[in-house]
Amino acid sequence: VSDLASELVAAGLKRVKANESMSKHTTWRIGGPADALVVVDTIEDLRLAISIADQHWTPWLVIGAGSNILVADEGIEGLVILNRMRSVSLDRVENGCEVNAESGAFFARVAQIAADSGYTGLEWGVAIPGTVGAGVVNNAGAHSGDVQRTIVNAEVLDSSGAIEVLDPAELRFAYRRSRLKVTSGEPITRTESIVVRVRFAAQTASSVDPRSIIKRLIEQRLATQPVVEPSAGSTFTNPPGASAGALIEMAGLKGHRIGGAEFSFRHANFIVNVDRAAAADVVALVRLARSRVRETQGVLLEPEVQLVGRWNKGETLHEHLGGDG
Ligand SMILES: Cc1cc2nc3c(=O)[nH]c(=O)nc-3n(C[C@H](O)[C@H](O)[C@H](O)COP(=O)(O)OP(=O)(O)OC[C@H]3O[C@@H](n4cnc5c(N)ncnc54)[C@H](O)[C@@H]3O)c2cc1C
Repeated sequence: VSDLASELVAAGLKRVKANESMSKHTTWRIGGPADALVVVDTIEDLRLAISIADQHWTPWLVIGAGSNILVADEGIEGLVILNRMRSVSLDRVENGCEVNAESGAFFARVAQIAADSGYTGLEWGVAIPGTVGAGVVNNAGAHSGDVQRTIVNAEVLDSSGAIEVLDPAELRFAYRRSRLKVTSGEPITRTESIVVRVRFAAQTASSVDPRSIIKRLIEQRLATQPVVEPSAGSTFTNPPGASAGALIEMAGLKGHRIGGAEFSFRHANFIVNVDRAAAADVVALVRLARSRVRETQGVLLEPEVQLVGRWNKGETLHEHLGGDG
């Protein structure tokens, strides 16, 4: 591993670390060490990092803000590529603009840039503390907006090194998922296709100032979600016609704690890290909520967050559901 790190440095990549704790790179502040980690801010550096990892037969995994992942306490095998490709530009089109964002740009910034320039339609993005690249994978959304309804296309780098431009139909979006999302429930250990650029459509604002919409959405979030304790946002997706948070609350789990993690008093679908929580604490809460909500409300909750890294073979957030439920 230190070989890999030193080779990355020798190739000219500057921000490289061996055995880097992933707790520094996830919003949950949880996760063991990545064997090696590199920060990239250009596509050339991204390609270079991948080619060196490939020469070492080492798996690589791309991470944005780490706001939707639960990294194993045992860490991540291989190379973690931290995506900091962030440039954003606007191209005028009739009645609006196309926002052209590199995949490591944060949603909040994309939303703010569009709003500051007088364009509406992307304000919902301020609610999402993650990158637009991962947002395409997850079809991120909030406040009645989502990627599916605002994207023009995405550029995706495949494992052969080719870049493909995918339109919304090709991305096959559904609620919090797309064709690029691994949904087996198994831990993710490598990235097959990397989103490198996303184009969104925004419209020229006429009656309402988009900046005032952003202000209102931020206030709304601050009032309803835990903002101090580290979390990964919603733990489960909302089942059709229901709220996962309300179901967890009805199952009596609001505020329930295991180890250093607990279901937030503020919003029961958020698991917050209150005291140096281990990834295993979070998994225990996820499984408890799944079985308790199924028993008491008859609804099966589906995790929105994804396991990443060195989990035991066959481990998933779904485990224990087989026989006894
Ligand atoms: C407080 C809080 C509130 C939240 N609210 C919302 C909300 O309202 N709506 C919502 O949808 N989400 C919400 N989230 C979840 C999260 O912000 C989104 O899922 C976001 O899209 C994740 O982006 P990220 O950059 O942090 O992804 P990461 O967590 O870094 O990665 C997530 C997955 O995507 C993969 N990935 C990352 N970048 C790329 C890329 N460029 N190409 C291919 N694969 C990639 C990773 O390997 C990983 O599998 C919230 C999270 C928090 C902490």
